[in-house]
Amino acid sequence: MQWKNHRITTFAVTYALTGSFPATAIATASSMLPDALEMKLLKHRTMTHYPWIFLIPIVFMWSAMQHSPGYALYTAFFIFFGYLCHLAEDFMSKSGIPLVSPYGKPTGLGLYVTHAPSEFRVALSIVALAVAFSWHNGLLTQDYLMHAANNMAVLVMGAGKNLHR
Ligand SMILES: [Zn+2]
Repeated sequence: MQWKNHRITTFAVTYALTGSFPATAIATASSMLPDALEMKLLKHRTMTHYPWIFLIPIVFMWSAMQHSPGYALYTAFFIFFGYLCHLAEDFMSKSGIPLVSPYGKPTGLGLYVTHAPSEFRVALSIVALAVAFSWHNGLLTQDYLMHAANNMAVLVMGAGKNLHR
């Protein structure tokens, strides 16, 4: 999947699941990481697209977050979450991602071919589903959006204050 589609689908899905602006911003930014980390050195869709390496830490982070939530853990969790969204999105393609070993044969659902019109259709379907889900759960009402924006502002100002201390 192309970066713009990774960004827009991860944005829509994370918002639908969290209703949080900070979580959505972090995951959207990190949704480019699996390709960016290849730095044109690694073979495309190998080590950085092997999901299990990233799935195990996120499960630990999730359980740690239930006991002691904090900014650092929250940020790390959503970095990994955005990362895994990218892998899930690539998994839907015909070329897929490696599931057995990092350099093994890739597996994919075959729902789209990268750069073909089918990629756009799949991205659009994911966004439409996420928007419908958000709408259904009241995450797109004016009241909710104002409330979420306010929370984000409080968070950013709080972080700013801590930096100046
Ligand atoms: Zn990728």
